Amino acid sequence: MKEGIHPAYYQAKVVCNCGNEFVTGSTKADIHTEICSKCHPFYTGQQKASSARGRIDQFNKRYGVESK
Ligand SMILES: [Zn+2]
Repeated sequence: MKEGIHPAYYQAKVVCNCGNEFVTGSTKADIHTEICSKCHPFYTGQQKASSARGRIDQFNKRYGVESK
């Protein structure tokens, strides 16, 4: 897959499934990703943590556990 000595190098626009867009250097002009540094739970811990917290609250409510 060599196209000459120097591959074309783009400022690629990366579009994530979460809607975040950012630009990075790449040999591909357009990149679509399912996860990025803004929505990856490793970086944010928010999306999945908040939904998990909601489930825990439901559980606590259902079984009468008081969380303080
Ligand atoms: Zn994302």
